[in-house]
Amino acid sequence: MRKTVDILGIPVDSITMKEAVERVGSFMEEGGVHCIYTPNSEIMMAAQRDPQLRSIMLDADMLTADGAGVVLASRILGHGVPEKVSGFDLVCELFKSYAHKGMRCFLLGSAPGVAQEAAKNISADYPGLIVAGWQDGYFSEDQDEEITNTINEANADILLVAMGAPKQEKWMFSHKDRLNVKVCIGVGGTVDILSGKSKLAPDFFRRNGLEWLYRLYKEPKRAVRMLDLPRFMTRVIWFRLTGK
Ligand code: UDP
Repeated sequence: MRKTVDILGIPVDSITMKEAVERVGSFMEEGGVHCIYTPNSEIMMAAQRDPQLRSIMLDADMLTADGAGVVLASRILGHGVPEKVSGFDLVCELFKSYAHKGMRCFLLGSAPGVAQEAAKNISADYPGLIVAGWQDGYFSEDQDEEITNTINEANADILLVAMGAPKQEKWMFSHKDRLNVKVCIGVGGTVDILSGKSKLAPDFFRRNGLEWLYRLYKEPKRAVRMLDLPRFMTRVIWFRLTGK
């Protein structure tokens, strides 16, 4: 049974990294496609404005708190999630835990050439894990069916969808009934990091919930989008005070 925390109408799983990894393990044993989204404050806020994104979140099999903002929000609302379970960290833990079982994964998303580079690094770093295929995230609607077939032919256990939010969540939702993978995870910039194209925030920033600050420094273009962070926190505090 899922234990979730309601954050502005979105049920985020109250789960540790270890439990999340085990849950994915059970998903891989069960039939059907399981969708996991890893919302950060920006996505939580986008889901307040976009009813389609909101219903996608409500339909998820697991929603993990990607970022200090979502963890803090859960604490402000009185039922804190035990820890942050970011998309990148979850993927690395899954690779570590299931590589020896010969887990197969498919990488979908990032710029041309990047997923291939990530595939090389993953195969070197996680012996036993099979990268069953990859595809960049800049394809046209005309190519969509062919790409879906390629993913299905790869017979992957896990599909990592790294096309940025909310594109990846919408793609996953609209394709899940046509996919034969067991688990599909929306992972944002994870493939960029696995390829070495972009870097994880240094430890100090990660430990202190300041990844957003590092990201702002690296990608100042995100500033407008990142205004959703204070908007999200204000909304959460307002909800805590007024119940609305
Ligand atoms: N991306 C993609 N297709 C697109 C737009 C973006 O594959 O049409 C990729 C982009 O190359 C990058 C990732 O999606 O690798 C977005 O990463 P970001 O960290 O910005 O994710 P977000 O924070 O938006 O979830």
